[in-house]
Amino acid sequence: MLTKQEVMNALSTVMDPDLGQDLVTLGMIEDLQVEGEKVSFSVVLTTPACPLKRKIENDCRTAVLSMTGAKEVEINMTARVRGQQKVDLGNNCFKHVIAVSSGKGGVGKSTVSVALASALAADGAKVGLLDADIYGPNVPRMLGIDELPPMQEGQKPDPANINGMKVLSIGFLVSEGQPLIWRGPMLHNAIQQFLTDFNWGELDYLIIDMPPGTGDVQLSVAQTLPIGGAVIVTTPQQVAVDDASRAISMFHKLDVPVLGIVENMAFLPMPDGEKLFLFGEAGGENLARRAGVLLLGRIPIDPGLGKGGDIGSPIFSEDKAEATRDALRDMARKTAAAMSTVAHAARTG
Ligand code: ADP
Repeated sequence: MLTKQEVMNALSTVMDPDLGQDLVTLGMIEDLQVEGEKVSFSVVLTTPACPLKRKIENDCRTAVLSMTGAKEVEINMTARVRGQQKVDLGNNCFKHVIAVSSGKGGVGKSTVSVALASALAADGAKVGLLDADIYGPNVPRMLGIDELPPMQEGQKPDPANINGMKVLSIGFLVSEGQPLIWRGPMLHNAIQQFLTDFNWGELDYLIIDMPPGTGDVQLSVAQTLPIGGAVIVTTPQQVAVDDASRAISMFHKLDVPVLGIVENMAFLPMPDGEKLFLFGEAGGENLARRAGVLLLGRIPIDPGLGKGGDIGSPIFSEDKAEATRDALRDMARKTAAAMSTVAHAARTG
C-alpha cells in the first residue's frame, strides 16, 4: 500500500532551484492525502509570482509518478509569502519592502516600479506602491490618479486603490508643477507618516519608487525606509550605467541586498524581428555581470509604454506589444524569486 512517507521521500528529490533546497526540507508540502493510488497535496511557494511554478509542479508530478506506485497526482500550487524581517509599522505589516532605484532620472524607474507592482498584484500578491520620488512623482499620472480617496472621520486614511494595488505618492502632497524643496527631517517625517499613518494593512510586497540618484536625499530616504532588497534600473547608455553602478555601491554601503538590474529601453524591436540597439548594446547586462548581480530583465523600447505611462492606461493594456508585457511580467517574477532567495538566506543564516 502506498504511504505518505513514500510520497514525501519522492518529493524530497524535487528542488526549488531558487532556494537551492528540496521542497520537503523547505516545508513546502502541505495537506498530503493518499487514497489508494491517488495522491493529492499542496505546494506552498514563497511567492505567487514564482517564475518556476510550472516547472516545480511538473517535477513533483514526475517524481511521485516515477518513484511511487501512485497513478494519479493532484497538485494544488499555492503561495504564502514569508517575510525577511516582517516590518510592523503602526498596525501595518510589510513582508518584503523592495526599493526601485536608478542612478539618473528618465531611465524608466517609475515605469518599472508600476509594472513590478502591477505584475505581482496580477499574480495574486498583496501589493502596495509608494512613490517616494520627490523630484518627479510620476506614479499618480501613470496610474491616472491625482488625489487620495476621501478620508473617513476617526479612521486611518486609506491609500488609493488602483487595480488591486494600494498606492501612495509624495505627489499627493504637492500641487502639480510646484516643486517642493524638501529638507532632510521633513522628508523623513513625510515618509514615516506614509508608512505608519495610512491603512496599508498586511502587504506581501511594498514597492518603493525611489528618488533617482545617489546624493544625500537618496541616502536619507533609503535609511528611513525598511528596505529588504533593491532593484536598479538603467538604460544601456554609458552615462546611465555609470550612475547605476554608483546606486549599487550606495545600497551595498547600506547593507541592502541588490536583487538585480533591469535594463530598460534595451532595444527597439523591428517588424522583421531585428533589434536596433539605439542606446548601445547590453550596457545593463554587462553591469550586472561586473557587479555580480542578477539581470532581472531587458525591457524593449515600446512607444505604447511611453504613451501609456503618460496618460494613465494600465501598464499591461493591449496598446503595449506582447513582447513588452512578457518582458515586464518576467522581470517581476524574477524580482520576486530574488527577494524570496534573499529572505530565505537571511532566515536560515
Ligand atoms: P524615471 O522614473 O526613471 O524618471 P519614467 O518611468 O518616468 O522614468 O520614464 C521616463 C519616460 O520614458 C516616460 O515618459 C515613460 O513613459 C517612458 N518610458 C519608460 N520606459 C520606456 C520604454 N521601455 N519604452 C518607451 N518609453 C518608455
